[in-house]
Amino acid sequence: MSRQVNFLFDLDETLLNFHASEKIGLREVVEANGCVFDDELYAFFKARNKELWLELEKGTITREELFKTRFGELLARCGADVSMLDLLKINSDFISAMSRNGVLLEGSRELLARLKDTLPDALIFIVSNGATVNALGRIKSTGLDAYLDGTFISEDLGVNKPSPEFFRIVLDGIGAHKDDCIVVGDSLTSDMKGAKNSGLPSCWFRPTGDIACAVEEYGIDFTADNFEDLYDVLVEWATCNHPVK
Ligand SMILES: [Mg+2]
Repeated sequence: MSRQVNFLFDLDETLLNFHASEKIGLREVVEANGCVFDDELYAFFKARNKELWLELEKGTITREELFKTRFGELLARCGADVSMLDLLKINSDFISAMSRNGVLLEGSRELLARLKDTLPDALIFIVSNGATVNALGRIKSTGLDAYLDGTFISEDLGVNKPSPEFFRIVLDGIGAHKDDCIVVGDSLTSDMKGAKNSGLPSCWFRPTGDIACAVEEYGIDFTADNFEDLYDVLVEWATCNHPVK
């Protein structure tokens, strides 16, 4: 008798294009505040935002300070009178604009549709680090939710990948054994390390850099360069380890 197989997909840069949605959201709030959005401003935001998230991780600023600072500096740079602005509202307008504007990686929806078609009993879950509203909104706005059996978002869980606690909550939630799940993701440090920490099979999607070295270090089971490869890997894994009745 076959056992239930479960695909645990990372979201950003595995199925959705986070950066494209971020750019749309930024353009919307910058233009709503009477400023001109361009690539230079986008590059400034990306760099400063990264620095601020590192500050938050170190505990030197709060989330609220991060949200206010990133938009205060961004809008001051294009000439807005920041003292007149409600920066927290602008931050939430940005998150809202992003969540309404999910962007698919080309071929991702077709992959999920093909998997559901070929393996109708397989379950598909999202395992993502990030903010719940942002992730769920982007999933819904792209129609990916039609193929999903559940979502596990770190903000909800209170713990991030690669923590074993994250995947313990996922496995308990699904009610599955680890051998019947495979983690698919683009990130070594969250997805592949998380799978390794929890003893889960893994597939590294769109690998880059010294692939052989990383495969060894993170105990990666499979790699896939594109959605065609990924479909073949996942169907092979599902049917070889879990023969169809
Ligand atoms: Mg990712």
